[in-house]
Amino acid sequence: MKKVIYLDNAATTRTAPEVVEAMLPYFSQHYGNPSSVYALAGESKEAITRSRETIAQALGAKSNEIYFTAGGSEADNWALKAAVEAYESKGKHVITTKIEHHAILHTCEYLEKRGFEVTYLNVDENGVVKLEELKKAIRPDTILISVMFANNEIGTIQPIREIGEIAKEHGILFHTDAVQAFGQVPISVDEYHIDMLSSSGHKLNGPKGIGFLYIRTGLKLRSFVHGGAQERKRRAGTENVPGIVGYGKAVERAVETMEERTAKERELRDYLVGRVLKEIPFVRLNGHRTKRLPNNANFSFQFVEGESLLIMLDMEGICASSGSACTSGSLDPSHVLLAIGLPHEIAHGSLRLTLGEETTREEIDFVVEQIKKIVQRLRDMSPLYEDFMKRENHGER
Ligand SMILES: *Cc1c(COP(=O)(O)O)cnc(C)c1O
Repeated sequence: MKKVIYLDNAATTRTAPEVVEAMLPYFSQHYGNPSSVYALAGESKEAITRSRETIAQALGAKSNEIYFTAGGSEADNWALKAAVEAYESKGKHVITTKIEHHAILHTCEYLEKRGFEVTYLNVDENGVVKLEELKKAIRPDTILISVMFANNEIGTIQPIREIGEIAKEHGILFHTDAVQAFGQVPISVDEYHIDMLSSSGHKLNGPKGIGFLYIRTGLKLRSFVHGGAQERKRRAGTENVPGIVGYGKAVERAVETMEERTAKERELRDYLVGRVLKEIPFVRLNGHRTKRLPNNANFSFQFVEGESLLIMLDMEGICASSGSACTSGSLDPSHVLLAIGLPHEIAHGSLRLTLGEETTREEIDFVVEQIKKIVQRLRDMSPLYEDFMKRENHGER
């Protein structure tokens, strides 16, 4: 098989070898059920405790505020559904944004069917929430604000501290989907006034199918899964011990390497962006120039179909992602790209490249050359491009 160049780290990451190694003993050696009383079970239980402490520490939280789930989507569902139920006597209004992950947006649609009212905030052309619009949207019956920490498509980082302060001033619960941000930018739940935070293991070189919801002490949220007494009776079910152990290891690594790793990714990403913008005509960078995840680049190429670009990159062994939602079975362009004001035809020609801890400059050089070649080939086949060039040349004469 051809060597794979993996530039889709926002979709998922490679589980780090040390993470796999840390997990392995918890499959067939320390396999006891953490709820049992014998020593074998104690080993599993202690491993969970250690992971919980590592994760809590990374957020400046207490370990009894971390509740393990089966991933980011579950954490998002739990946060929203349980929070509105708990506070519905105060009101039925929720505020979120137009650029959230579907785990939030589709949960909000569900809440609307259940009689809640949801305001979806606009974002500016860089994908940043406008604080003035947020303040104006707040009503006496607003019970929850949910704004993602960083966007999974365009990488824009939100002014989370300011949003947290606004929520706190008004006595409104604040949830953030930090699946993309955790491990990439420092987060303090206290400094940012975060009441609930979602995260997922497989986005930071941990295993898939494990996540957590941070729930601030004092919040009376109902259980997400009813059953046994696991996760302080709020999320029943025998714990995913290997997953939790791997997640703890992944967070430990992410915290330790954050400064160096993100500096290296940022430098390579800036090099990639610089070359693409300079060497390919009719292209734009989507998302905020500087307030963005260190590993994210998102481009729109005029006169190009994003899906065709992806397929041709795949033939060269390059894993990337497009801005349209075709992969999920619909032909609509991404709601995020539309929300930052891109017309449909531009949004359709989008490409997301998300770097990882193993990405090299040689890989970036190869990828830029391939993109240049493929974009030109696709444009040469595009009647729209031909028309455009004819008009351009005509105009010049
Ligand atoms: C990946 C992702 C999720 C979903 O996490 P899963 O663990 O895959 O369920 C939610 N929100 C954001 C921003 C994501 O990037």
